[in-house]
Amino acid sequence: MSPAIQALLLLQDRDRRLRGMAEDLEKIPKDEARAKDRLAGDTAAVKKCRDDLMANEVEIKKVELDVGTRRTTIARLKTQQFETRKNDEYQALGHEVTRYEKDIDSLETKELELMERADALRGELATAEAALAKTKQRVDEDLNQLAERRKRVEAELVEVRAERERLAAAAPEAQLPLYERLLKTKNGIAVVPSIAGKCGGCHIKLVASTMVKVNQGLDGVQCESCGRLLYTEE
Ligand SMILES: [Zn+2]
Repeated sequence: MSPAIQALLLLQDRDRRLRGMAEDLEKIPKDEARAKDRLAGDTAAVKKCRDDLMANEVEIKKVELDVGTRRTTIARLKTQQFETRKNDEYQALGHEVTRYEKDIDSLETKELELMERADALRGELATAEAALAKTKQRVDEDLNQLAERRKRVEAELVEVRAERERLAAAAPEAQLPLYERLLKTKNGIAVVPSIAGKCGGCHIKLVASTMVKVNQGLDGVQCESCGRLLYTEE
């Protein structure tokens, strides 16, 4: 293998690593967003439990208020009853008192049911909060790991970039522009070996004259199909 090819292969190795690291860094924000998304479901569940509990509390207050107004009414009716001297009026007032007392009975039954529901809702809320806390812990761990990965890759990137600059300075100047162009257009692979008479990049059979040049170890030999620079490992 010629020194020029050796230099380009070293350069290509660093270029491919840089490409991989750039892809990795690009992926991290997406992974972070996905991790945070996992909290949304659990957060919504907690909110729903809280809302239900609050609505239930409002309902209880309303029932208590209704009971209160009926008690006031009953007290007023009883005073009227006490003050009246007419027997039929006394009885009519008595019927009204009974009606309001029945009202209070059913309201108190309703209040009891609402209080039982409040207990159940508090239980659901506790479960939902525990689930959220657990998810949050896992998400925080994932986010920490992602932050560490970012730091590690960024540090490595600086290192490999410096290496790349050093290797580029040592590479054959005449072939660098072609190499750079191929790197961009050929998916990060500019220099490939010939494998059993085929191009190691596009896998198309090389013409005989090209194979001769490759086997002679000449520099700057290109695949006539994809244009990649060729060398032989044999
Ligand atoms: Zn090719």
